[in-house]
Amino acid sequence: MPEAVVPDQRVSNQLPAPIAEPGSGAAPVLEAVGVTKHFPVHGKDAGRLGHRRVVHAIDDASIGIYPGKVTALVGESGSGKSTLARVLAGLYGRTAGQVLLHGRPVTATRGRAFRRHVGEVQLILQDPYGSFNPMLRVSTHLRRAVRIHDAEHGPDVLRTRTAELLEQVHLLPAGQFLDKFPHELSGGQLQRVSIARALAARPSVILADEPVSNLDVSIRLGVLNLLAELTDTGVGLLYVTHDVASARYFASEIAVMYAGRIVESGPAEHVITEPAHPYTRLLISSAPDPARRSRPDEIADTGQPPSLISPPAGCRFHPRCPLVMPVCRTDAPPVFELGGGHWSRCWLFRSDHGGPGQAAGTSTAPSAPAPSTPDNPAADSV
Ligand code: SF4
Repeated sequence: MPEAVVPDQRVSNQLPAPIAEPGSGAAPVLEAVGVTKHFPVHGKDAGRLGHRRVVHAIDDASIGIYPGKVTALVGESGSGKSTLARVLAGLYGRTAGQVLLHGRPVTATRGRAFRRHVGEVQLILQDPYGSFNPMLRVSTHLRRAVRIHDAEHGPDVLRTRTAELLEQVHLLPAGQFLDKFPHELSGGQLQRVSIARALAARPSVILADEPVSNLDVSIRLGVLNLLAELTDTGVGLLYVTHDVASARYFASEIAVMYAGRIVESGPAEHVITEPAHPYTRLLISSAPDPARRSRPDEIADTGQPPSLISPPAGCRFHPRCPLVMPVCRTDAPPVFELGGGHWSRCWLFRSDHGGPGQAAGTSTAPSAPAPSTPDNPAADSV
């Protein structure tokens, strides 16, 4: 029998509100509200007719992207973060939930309204070489983007605009790059060209899916700084990454995704210095940081992410969580508000577990029960 849930005013079974932006009151330019995306399974694992199996790529995810701000979506490979970026970009449909652009639901899947959406919401992919036709020069790629998105595109406009775009991404002198083919540029230079191509649409939002993961370490910072510069013009940026350290450096808000669910979200510094969810603690303790000393609430890695075809009941992190309790195995945790726009989906924050109700400014990490082990069965009956 699942444990009775102790009611608490900070607990909500509703979807979490999109990430709050403390103090500014700014509305998100792009939001996912309770977005679910399931993919049908094909082949021998598809299941019987009427009981078709699906991949639970995203369940009930809400996130907001604000003008002039960077929101990081962090998680390991296969957590659903790239799928969520593609749903926001309009490349994938939704199984449930809503996407709002400037507060209005996005429903178009073709035609002029859809083109307007994909113009305003630009996606930058991880592998720049895979996103360019190798047979075409940089100038052709950029001119094509300008032609699609600018009503005025005579020869003079095209020349001026493509040079401007390359200047915006600091590829100077522009003339030196326009006649190059993609393979003649370094990964960093080509990723800058893909950012320039996205800027041709004058987007309100850029969704950058692991934009520096394929680049040499030495040039990652330059590309990240360039993306940060773009937010000065009011563009909202979603930074999708598995690298929690760069998210801290770069983002004002962080949302953490695990096995298709957003499990924690809040102001970046608060999420990193006071991580609430055990999975966030695991991510942070796994990130290389020679200056960090081990913390008493550090979590050891104890397994692999689950199958998204048949995800575990209850909390999806429970097979891996050293702090697992009986309720975690049966009931999906609701949202526990921790204050200041920080929330977590973890039963440790139930009011009878020392979570919600703490004074502001104290650690949000609740007291951890001893890990459940064969020698310590009592710990599993908290
Ligand atoms: Fe999930 Fe329970 Fe671990 Fe929290 S304590 S992460 S709810 S398994």
